[in-house]
Amino acid sequence: MILEGKHTCEDCNKEFEWFYVVPEHMDSRTYGVVKIPKGKQGVRVIEADKNRMPITVSAYCPVDECGYPNTFKIEKK
Ligand SMILES: [Zn+2]
Repeated sequence: MILEGKHTCEDCNKEFEWFYVVPEHMDSRTYGVVKIPKGKQGVRVIEADKNRMPITVSAYCPVDECGYPNTFKIEKK
């Protein structure tokens, strides 16, 4: 399973796209190959819930000469 979204950089105010690959359980029957989206920033999980779904993540801004480490909460859909 893959989470994707958009975030506006807190430093340069430009919007970038991010993704996070949720680890599958070992007993999952829906095991499959996850395609890594191109041109998107991978995020690092800061805080996750008990189901290992990320709540707060951090990602570096991909804009040239910015690279600001944004920390933000994932909005539940
Ligand atoms: Zn930025």
